[in-house]
Order: sequence, then structure tokens, then C-alpha cells
Amino acid sequence: MPKPFASSADLGDKQRSFEELAEGVYALTAEGDPNVGAVEGEDFLVCFEAMATPVAAREWLATLRQRTAKPVRYLVLSHYHAVRVLGASAFGAEVIVAHDKTRELIAERGEQDWASEYGRMPRLFKEPSSIPGLTWPTATFSDTFTIQLGGDRGEVVLAHCGRGHTEGDLVAWLPRQGVLFAGDLVESQAALYTGDAFHRDWAGATLDRVASFGARVLVGGRGAVARGEREVAAAVAQTRDFLRVMLTEVGAAHGRGGTLKEAFEGAHRALAPRYGAWPIFEHCLPFNVSRLWDELDGVERPRVWTAERDREVWELLQT
Ligand SMILES: [Zn+2]
Repeated sequence: MPKPFASSADLGDKQRSFEELAEGVYALTAEGDPNVGAVEGEDFLVCFEAMATPVAAREWLATLRQRTAKPVRYLVLSHYHAVRVLGASAFGAEVIVAHDKTRELIAERGEQDWASEYGRMPRLFKEPSSIPGLTWPTATFSDTFTIQLGGDRGEVVLAHCGRGHTEGDLVAWLPRQGVLFAGDLVESQAALYTGDAFHRDWAGATLDRVASFGARVLVGGRGAVARGEREVAAAVAQTRDFLRVMLTEVGAAHGRGGTLKEAFEGAHRALAPRYGAWPIFEHCLPFNVSRLWDELDGVERPRVWTAERDREVWELLQT
């Protein structure tokens, strides 16, 4: 039986977990669906990630509103992917913050990414007609951007750690609370999506910089919250291992003049024993291998994924 395309057959609702990680610092995780978070300032909120549609975002906000009625001043977007940004209008945020490159990527490929992600993961797009259009950041930065929370709450430091999951990822670091929202740069017991990635940078200096914050609590892009130094280190190590296995396997097939299909099969064989049962593993791997193959071919920037290219790569590798 052919594998259903990407996550198109994944239609069951996930169990959501709302957690307070430190005073006024919240995360919502959902068994491998994209995580979101929020941080209370003295008289405002900083929200992290926007979900795929305004209707989906309003469900998250309803949960958050059981704890605080403060208005959302900042909506922080870790990167440009549609399932994390297209719900932005629900937040009524004063400022939408992202990395400079994220703004450029939305302009360059936001429309195609929207169509691609909708086809891959339709369940996340709750009432897609509620999306008013692309989400445009209203404040961008290149290295760091600091938000003072007021009172004795400390600050949120948004930082770009180098190229990784995309060209413009940011993390949100709360030095006082020791909490790091890592976006898709780190996954905790969920498979990586690397279809828009820079594998070598990500597996090296970028993850080194993520680890250097010394977080005591880490919220990855998907999967459970990592608590304590050991779990945080394990989440970072898992992410790095996944990338290194891909680099080894795809690199070997590429180096000996093999085919993309052989690279996919090698990567699948090597990754499946440890990662095969984790959320979105089968969904992501064809796109991951395709991008890494390009990277090894010297294609500097990831090619744009369109709904059509998604299907072509899927047909070639997963059937
Ligand atoms: Zn992403």
C-alpha cells in the first residue's frame, strides 16, 4: 500500500498540555504538533509563535486567557514557516518580531510555502479561510533584539544563532528564568524537518550557540518540554545526531555518485531504528534528503517548495 502523502492522513486530534515553566512563562505542547509559548511582562504579553490559522490561534489564546488578560504587545515568530505564522492576526499584537531573513523569505516564498504546508499538514489549518493573508513582521533584527518585561521580571532576548532549520531562525532566551524557546532549531522526541535547512551550519556552530545559553528548561519546536540540564542536553544531542546521520548517509551516496533514491534509502535505514516512530518522520524525510542533496551539490539557498514539487519528490522517494 502506498504511503499517504506527507501528513495528509494524520487527522486525529492531539492531546494538548499547557504548562507554566516559571512564574508567568507558559508553553503549550501537543504530542509533536507545533509548540507555542507566552511570557508575561508587567503589563503586557510576549507570545511566541502564531499557529497555522487565526481560528487555531484563538483556541490557544482562550487557554492563555484563563491565566492572564494582559494584551499581547509582542508576537515573536521563530521563522517563516506557514504553520507558525499564519494565525498572527488573532493576537492583535502591537509588534510582530522576526529575523531580517524571515521577512525576506516571506516576501520571496511565503505564498508557495503556505500552499505547500497546507497540502502537507491540512489538519493544522483549522478553518483556513480565516487566514487574512501572509503575515508581515513589523520589527526585524539581524543579531539580537531585547524586550524588557518590566518590574523584576527580567527580559526576553531574541537571538539569531546562525543558519539552521531555515536561514532566519531566532530563539527566545529568558536569562532570569533559564528558559529557552528554541523554535524548530531543536526538537524533543519529534523528527526534524530540514527541507529548508543548512545542515552543516545547523549541526555545528548553530547548535553550539543554542547549547551555550545553558538553558534549564527548553521548549523545542515540537515535542515535550525538556526540563533540567540532562533533558535539555538530550534534546540538543538528538537534533545534532539526526543531522549528522543524514550528513553521513546522504553524503556517502552523493560522494560515490549514487542516486537521490539511494541516499533516501540509506538515510531511512540509518535513522528509522531510533527516530522512525517519532512524529512526522516519514512525512519529512523525502524533503529533508532532497534539500541535503542540493546542499551537497553546492546549491547555496534551499529551492522553493511548491505543492507540485512536494508531490514530485514524494512520488520519487516514498513510493
Ligand atoms: Zn519550521
